[in-house]
Amino acid sequence: MNKFINADASACIGCKTCEIACVLAHGEEIRTIESAHFNSRLDVIEVGDITVPVMCHQCEDAPCMLACPNGAIIRQNNHIKVLQEKCIGCKTCVLACPFGAMKVKLKIEDLIVAGHARGKRYKAQAIKCDICYSDPNGPACVRTCPTKALSLVDLDDLIKIQEKRQRDSVLAIR
Ligand code: SF4
Ligand code: SF4
Repeated sequence: MNKFINADASACIGCKTCEIACVLAHGEEIRTIESAHFNSRLDVIEVGDITVPVMCHQCEDAPCMLACPNGAIIRQNNHIKVLQEKCIGCKTCVLACPFGAMKVKLKIEDLIVAGHARGKRYKAQAIKCDICYSDPNGPACVRTCPTKALSLVDLDDLIKIQEKRQRDSVLAIR
């Protein structure tokens, strides 16, 4: 089962530390926090007096993966991953995601023709949470949230939550 990051709305104070941590953790793609280049893979959303980060659920039957016409989204290392070299920027995945967790951005990169740099070109990238899978310390947002509103959930955690809910529901009957 894929791991995913759970956000606790009751603990979130809307400070957006998680967004900054996410941008910095993916620094090879994002070198500035200017708004035009601020490519956070999670967004702190405010509705009324509630603030909470919204991000990818790493769906098992991922609608984005099933919808991508170019095979650019795959399951790998316990999460749903975008193969950027295959992304054509069609935005089908953005429309397919039920949580608004996918974004398509343009990155400026070198245009290489016959092994030589021939100016610059735009390259589309589908951006989503990758649970910082290559970092042995775990997701940057989880580590930096000052109120511990974020947690990385695996199958064992999910079973513990389920068992607690089952016990609570039995106690509620008494
Ligand atoms: S981007 Fe959306 S559809 Fe794709 S795995 Fe994440 S939550 Fe699911
Ligand atoms: S934007 Fe890229 S990743 Fe998304 S559906 Fe299109 S090709 Fe696939």
